[in-house]
Formats: sequence, structure tokens, C-alpha cells
Amino acid sequence: MIKLFDVAEIIRSKNSGPYELTFDIMFKEESDFENFVAKDIMTKAVFARLYKISESDVLSIIPFTPSKAVKITIVRPVPSGSLGEKDVYGAQQHGPLLNFKYKEAGMQQVYICQSCELEMTELAHFGTNSDGAPNHELCTFCWPDGGYASWCRNMTMEDMANNNIPFLLEAGLAANEQEALEMSRVSLPKLKRWAR
Ligand SMILES: [Zn+2]
Repeated sequence: MIKLFDVAEIIRSKNSGPYELTFDIMFKEESDFENFVAKDIMTKAVFARLYKISESDVLSIIPFTPSKAVKITIVRPVPSGSLGEKDVYGAQQHGPLLNFKYKEAGMQQVYICQSCELEMTELAHFGTNSDGAPNHELCTFCWPDGGYASWCRNMTMEDMANNNIPFLLEAGLAANEQEALEMSRVSLPKLKRWAR
């Protein structure tokens, strides 16, 4: 198990306006940052459990690659300055994050693009949602910026099967074009985009 406290250089929280609270986790090593983001360690559900808040109050979890940082924004439980504000949401809100532990690389699931079947093994392979967060279901070729890329947006499943022929041949997974096509016709319907 990795303890976030050991791999993060800085964990801090601050109010961003009266209604929102942001947490910054800055990693010491790029490899730890990449692993944390690519393996989808901190999801809204995980953060909500950690802070005993509703998942819908976790507004965004966005990685910033140049600074090796993850910024988490939540709805402040009580607006800043209101009566009844609790100390737990004062300066020491990052406590639960300091003690957060997660599994090491290699123990998480395999991520397959649910459009083109690419296996995504590192952060750069994941698609990007419109809020900047990585998309763990679609690759960067299919979902580069909050939507399907133009090359595949209007594809049918059969189009994608044909598109994948050269990749399957190159990888040595199929002996010829016909075999590659047949393979994709079996495997693509198992992906979310093509499921019937
Ligand atoms: Zn893809």
C-alpha cells in the first residue's frame, strides 16, 4: 500500500469563494502522479467516502500534469462565514487525505478503450473530458477533448472493425485481413460504444 502522505510533497486545502473548497495534492515524483491519475485512484466516490460527504458535492477532480498536481473541488458544507461553520472545515481539512492509502501499481484493472479497443496503460493514453479530467473508458484518439474525434465520430461498428485491421495485423494477432475483421466483429460488440 502507498500512503498519500509519503508520495505527496504538498497537500493543502483552501476556500475558493464562499461556496467551494479546493484540495491540492502535489506529488514529488512524476511516476507517482501518473500512477495516481492513470489508475483512477481518487474518484468522486472515493473522496466522498473519505470526507463523509455526498458524491454529488464533489464537483471535480482534475489533474494538472505540468505541476504533478491533482485539484479536487467540493461544495463547502457550510458557506464561509456563516453561523455554524465547523472547525473540521477550517485549516485542517486535508487530514483524511494525509492518511489515505491505496494499492500499488499493477493491482488495478486493465483499461480498454470502449470505442476502438486500444489498451490504455499510461496516463497519456486516456481521453480527456471537457473539464480536463481523464476519461478512463475512452482513449485519447477517440475522445481527445470532451467528445468523439472527427475520424471516428460517425463510424459504425463495421467501420471500426475495418479501421482496426492494420493494428491487429501489426500486433500479430491476426494472420490476414479477413481474420482481423472477424476478430473485431466478435470483440467490438462487447465494448460500451457498440453494445447492443
Ligand atoms: Zn479509442
